[in-house]
Amino acid sequence: MKIQYPKGMQDILPSQIGMWQALESLCRDISARYGYKEIRTPILEKTELFVRGVGEGTDIVGKEMYSFVDQGNEALTMRPELTAGVARAVLQHSLMELSGTQRLWYYGPLFRHERPQAGRYRQFYQYGVELLGSPYPESDVEVIQLAYDLLCGLGLTEFSLKINTLGNAHSRQAYRDALTAYLTPLSDKLSEESRKRLAKNPLRILDSKDAGDKELLRDVPRFGDFLDEESRSYFDAVQQLLAALGISFFISDKLVRGLDYYSHTVFEFSTTKLGAQDALCGGGRYDGLFTQLGSHKPVPGVGFAAGVERLLLLLAEEQLSITQEHLPDFYLISLGDEARVVVQKLARELRKAGTVVLTDLRRRALKAQMKEADKLQARTVVIVGEEECNAGIVRVRNMATGEQSECPVETAASHLLSL
Ligand code: AMP
Repeated sequence: MKIQYPKGMQDILPSQIGMWQALESLCRDISARYGYKEIRTPILEKTELFVRGVGEGTDIVGKEMYSFVDQGNEALTMRPELTAGVARAVLQHSLMELSGTQRLWYYGPLFRHERPQAGRYRQFYQYGVELLGSPYPESDVEVIQLAYDLLCGLGLTEFSLKINTLGNAHSRQAYRDALTAYLTPLSDKLSEESRKRLAKNPLRILDSKDAGDKELLRDVPRFGDFLDEESRSYFDAVQQLLAALGISFFISDKLVRGLDYYSHTVFEFSTTKLGAQDALCGGGRYDGLFTQLGSHKPVPGVGFAAGVERLLLLLAEEQLSITQEHLPDFYLISLGDEARVVVQKLARELRKAGTVVLTDLRRRALKAQMKEADKLQARTVVIVGEEECNAGIVRVRNMATGEQSECPVETAASHLLSL
């Protein structure tokens, strides 16, 4: 049997790469417009980084990591997300000391051992940003705006923005206590998953997909009632700024996001067009992360990660194309040994001038080469056979009009480039 890729992984084939590249280049452009710089961190990190930086009570660390012990007895994990790695790199290289504000973006693959289904993979790509150094709501809004610009820049319209606040540590603790007190007597009725979360990460129960849990959660205490003055005014400022920028949003008090390190604003862009895997991009503020990773000073941070495959699926769903095709400018047909040398030399000159040039490498007949030039949608075809070699000319065919002309081989490159 032929070997296939591992379950939950995919190949990105040449026919698909155009849209991947176009999307990545848009991410690059938008990041630059906001002054964000790219950071690339290793795919493998020490397992401890995620245990400390993402949190043991999370699904990611609890059951989804690809972890192993290497030949040197080091416990390593294939990164299941990028924020922890970026934070590690910022601390390791003391980047906050170089500049008090760090605007960083990343793009790359990550790995989670989830149950694969449409829009959910075990290797997938994320584009994300991290804005470090500002504890103020305008930075939350900057990253939300950036994500919004990306979605709009792709031409997408079928999405909406949900926001919520998890308040400061004080409010969160008060709410966590109230939630635990409310749910503990009901724990027999909770799903097994939620029962486990009750002790470790009760906030996560709020976004349970289980129908029975949803029923039990109907009259649960509301986070909004536990927000202190600071948390409330922070959230108000975020909403006012979003409104001033004309970015519409819904407040969803069930939005808690999966990771332990969030505080204040959490947000998610989602769509109704992709079935169960409806989240396109999620993020929030994580002021506690750096101290969790051993930083002496807290570093305020806010960021998001967008799932590249999901954006591409939504583009297809909305019948949008972002691919910029590099169609050949020239297809050079050669017939015979002498012609092949002429054609290779000509191709070299044309490529040096920056044009896209293809030649036949299977020594096929004129008709087959012509057919391929047509299939590849070459703009201009150049034909060099024995007869043309003897006459010291090349034939030039404009594929749009079918018009044919000839020119001396010595001046062929400059003539072709002037077309
Ligand atoms: P998260 O890091 O879980 O907050 O996810 C951020 C974004 O990554 C989500 O909004 C999705 O678009 C995408 N994503 C998360 N998990 C997967 C997965 N298993 N397969 C594909 N995309 C994913």
